[in-house]
Amino acid sequence: MMEKRISGTTGLYCLIGSPVGHSGSPAMYNYSFKKLEIDSAYVAFDISEEKVPDAINAFKTLNIRGANVTMPCKSAVVKYMDELSPAARIVGAVNTIVNNGGKLTGHITDGVGFVRNLQEHGVGVKGKKITILGAGGAATAIEVQCALDGAKEINIFNIKDAFYEKAKETIENIKKEVPKCVVNLCDLEDTQKLTEKISESDILVNATRVGMHPNQEQSPIKDTSNFRKGLAVADVVYNPKKTKFLEDAEAAGCTIVGGIGMLLWQGAEAFKLYTGLEMPTEEVNELYFK
Ligand code: NAD
Repeated sequence: MMEKRISGTTGLYCLIGSPVGHSGSPAMYNYSFKKLEIDSAYVAFDISEEKVPDAINAFKTLNIRGANVTMPCKSAVVKYMDELSPAARIVGAVNTIVNNGGKLTGHITDGVGFVRNLQEHGVGVKGKKITILGAGGAATAIEVQCALDGAKEINIFNIKDAFYEKAKETIENIKKEVPKCVVNLCDLEDTQKLTEKISESDILVNATRVGMHPNQEQSPIKDTSNFRKGLAVADVVYNPKKTKFLEDAEAAGCTIVGGIGMLLWQGAEAFKLYTGLEMPTEEVNELYFK
């Protein structure tokens, strides 16, 4: 029982963002704290972007040991960090804050979670050519992490919306930090280029919102002849768990990797940053992600 766990020494961790009421994070972290007999608890606070400075002050005043950060606060917290991990600095966003006696370090674990989830499916990124659809929050974290982890080439495809401009910045940042990695930006509507780049790639990733509930009949890849055996295909969308994009890829014999594992492993990475320990991911997966 929770009541027995909370004492005068219990450390507090939290999630900030808005909305947070639907989040699975409190269940995932509290289960893990209890299982590993860690004297800590985790709650969610609904924090709008304007309230970020107040929330940061509260972390320090109340000695909140760590926090996950979700939309719309992921970029807003950056300037309050005393230190940033290399990935958080390059991406310009933070999803995990560690409070070490008032010194705040910002990390982004989405990209690490994505790469770990691929690994769990037998797919590595080192030396690989990767085509990634999208240039938003999830896509940027993945693009940067794949570059940091030794991808040979990354082809970013996005529609010509505001995120296309953001992709240009991401490319500049990757070129500066990881000059060995070749990064290209193309229009997602250029289907010829898309087919060409996918045919040269080892891994294809949907990191757009396309296919997410309630638009689950949509896929960012309309021409299913782009899928071929030997191509690993991953989605960031986790609602539904198996998107049309993944269904089409599976039908063509591709190795498929769903978005739910990325969610699990980004949490596991944050847990390790908080506690130095491995999250009991098998049980968490069974209980909360199946
Ligand atoms: P975002 O708003 O930052 O980016 C949205 C992206 O989708 C942009 O690249 C945009 O150009 C593209 N897009 C939007 N509409 C499109 C359309 N009609 N056609 C083609 N491209 C289109 O969003 P985000 O925070 O990066 O989230 C994207 C998806 O990733 C969501 O489904 C979210 O739930 C999921 N996500 C998953 C995880 C995970 O752990 N699995 C983590 C973060 C986000």
